[in-house]
Amino acid sequence: MVAESVLEGLDPEQRAVAEAVQGPVCVLAGAGTGKTRAITHRIAYAVHTGVVTPQRVLAVTFTTRAAGELRGRLRQLGAPGVQARTFHAAALRQLSYFWPRVVGGDPPKIIDSKIKLVADAARMCGLSLGRTELRDVAGEIEWAKVTQNRPEDYPAAVVRAARKPSTEVVDVARVYAMYEQLRRERNLLDFEGMLELTAAVLTEHREVAGQVREQYRYFVVDEFQDVNPLQKMLLDAWLGGRHDLCVVGDPNQTIYSFTGASPSYLLGFTREHPDAKVVKLVRDYRSTPQVVRLANGVIGQARGDRHELELVAQRESGPDPVFNEYDDEVAEADDTARRARKLIDEGVPAREIAILFRINAQSETYESALAAAGVPYVLRGAERFFERPEVREAVVRLRGAARAGADAETDGTGLIMTVRHVLSGAGFSDQPPEGAGAARARWESLAALAQLAEDMAADDPKAGLPEFVAELEERAAAQHAPPLEGVTLASLHAAKGLEWDAVFLVGLAEGTLPIIYAKTPEQVEEERRLLYVGITRARVHLALSWALARSPGGSQLRRPSRFLDGLTDKTTTHMPARVDRAKRRVAKGPQPCRVCGRPLTAAVERKLGRCEDCPSELNEELFIALKDWRAEMAAEQRIPAYVVFTDATLQAIAEHCPESVEELARIPGVGRVKLDRYGEAVLKLCGV
Ligand code: ATP
Ligand code: MG
Repeated sequence: MVAESVLEGLDPEQRAVAEAVQGPVCVLAGAGTGKTRAITHRIAYAVHTGVVTPQRVLAVTFTTRAAGELRGRLRQLGAPGVQARTFHAAALRQLSYFWPRVVGGDPPKIIDSKIKLVADAARMCGLSLGRTELRDVAGEIEWAKVTQNRPEDYPAAVVRAARKPSTEVVDVARVYAMYEQLRRERNLLDFEGMLELTAAVLTEHREVAGQVREQYRYFVVDEFQDVNPLQKMLLDAWLGGRHDLCVVGDPNQTIYSFTGASPSYLLGFTREHPDAKVVKLVRDYRSTPQVVRLANGVIGQARGDRHELELVAQRESGPDPVFNEYDDEVAEADDTARRARKLIDEGVPAREIAILFRINAQSETYESALAAAGVPYVLRGAERFFERPEVREAVVRLRGAARAGADAETDGTGLIMTVRHVLSGAGFSDQPPEGAGAARARWESLAALAQLAEDMAADDPKAGLPEFVAELEERAAAQHAPPLEGVTLASLHAAKGLEWDAVFLVGLAEGTLPIIYAKTPEQVEEERRLLYVGITRARVHLALSWALARSPGGSQLRRPSRFLDGLTDKTTTHMPARVDRAKRRVAKGPQPCRVCGRPLTAAVERKLGRCEDCPSELNEELFIALKDWRAEMAAEQRIPAYVVFTDATLQAIAEHCPESVEELARIPGVGRVKLDRYGEAVLKLCGV
């Protein structure tokens, strides 16, 4: 392929990015403006012009799926062989290679979830934590490790960062210390540890650093606004003072600050590299003007230091975004499934439709609704495609067939036919089985492999079975699942960088978006950016919805997300009504949520007396008065504020507004000692 042809199909600014083949480059641009496209073309152009050989390029992206996309696009541009990986995958590969030489002994096992270890650590600390709390503590440990705070530094760091974990800070610090101890004893390494260790090996072993730097000399990082300090440290270790680095990002899409990432590396890039070429892209090629207008509207209402990157739509006009309000979540999910069905019937492929939500727990309702409506779906984030038994079996069969030289014909149809034939041995048929059960899931996996063969034959009619098997092996190593034929169900976080023809943003109610535990203005702004990311995933069809109650028949106390204020065509705003006090005290069996009635299991939820994402009837004034009083108490007694009362307890007091000592004593977190010490003052604030 001729180098110049790689530049075709780029606008002048994107072209400027591609042509700046050497030295530091920073692309600051909004969603859908072609950042990812610009960097793939830049790599291909550099390869074609002989600036760098593909093997010496390291392209780092955020998800394995994005890495797979990059590799695919580079192959189409005639630049195969470029390493496109996530920070984790790149670090893991280097570490496994150097471990025997620089450390020796059994390499540690990498854990991709902290929950089990956190649960063991909590138990050893004598704490019984529910699922929500374990997740919260795991998140806190992750944040502490990413921001390089040890257990003993954690409490002070939390105060500095104005973080408000829902578990007691002292408890988190204890569990964190125990977690690290158990981790070492069991020879385990978490993701943060892996990044840290790789960077340390590169810094301390000159010979290893020399080898890695000899191998890679050309670096590109996508989604740079969400780089965290550990990833930055590793990137610096790879670079070793060199400047062949191109970063692209959008500060308005920063959605991982809660885990310790920071857009400051993107925004401060020119300070670190004064000779950097900076390019801004503003033309949005992804979405219709209708979608772009809403995206600009949502981000335009941001407060604080927002970044002016207003998108200018390039596509032709499309349908207006629709806003739907439902009585309850089940009605919302059913109607969303019905609308997805309708789009499919109208010709939108299922794989071009996504339903995006704030938290993974929302997924289940949508899975049932889609299954009931007969709409196939795939879960993003949960899947480990190449570890599915039917996929393993299929790969073994395909490998065997390739070895036996099964494909004599080498035109494109030969590959498709051969793959389908081999897959039929693993139970594949042309038509899917009835229903939505395991047989259907198995068929979907095999169909995805068949589709991959078709895609490959279309890209490269000369490709045969050996090339197809090599592609599968490469994908398996990078955990890059092929696109599965079904509506995507994903969290907003997992949807980053991706695009679909039709997007449903569901559950857009206060308490869910922004999520109830987003308390500080910074946290709320991150929630707003999540909505912005969600909106900008849509090419044409966009539906936004919320439900007034959780369950059918439940009190309809929810309100649409504040981020939609003034942007929807709905005029009704539903304020949470005060709940009849007498109705709350039905304390038999597991304590029910006083808003929606669901039994509460997590300790934090029991403390609040409601689901975390049900709206609270918080008396804001009282809450502020209580916090002021607590600050005075803490200063007077020279103790941390949370020792007086935790935020969760103060919040519960402000919600219940107790009228007597007995009522106050019923609030979890208010024990005998605290009652004696502070009861009178608290009740006074409550107006008793
Ligand atoms: P995000 O911020 O969401 O990651 P992005 O800036 O990386 O978005 P891309 O994914 O590269 O954007 O591009 C968005 C869509 O616009 C893609 O479908 C891409 O192929 C298309 N596109 C980008 N640039 C052009 C162009 N110059 N001409 C036509 N289509 C384009
Ligand atoms: Mg992108």
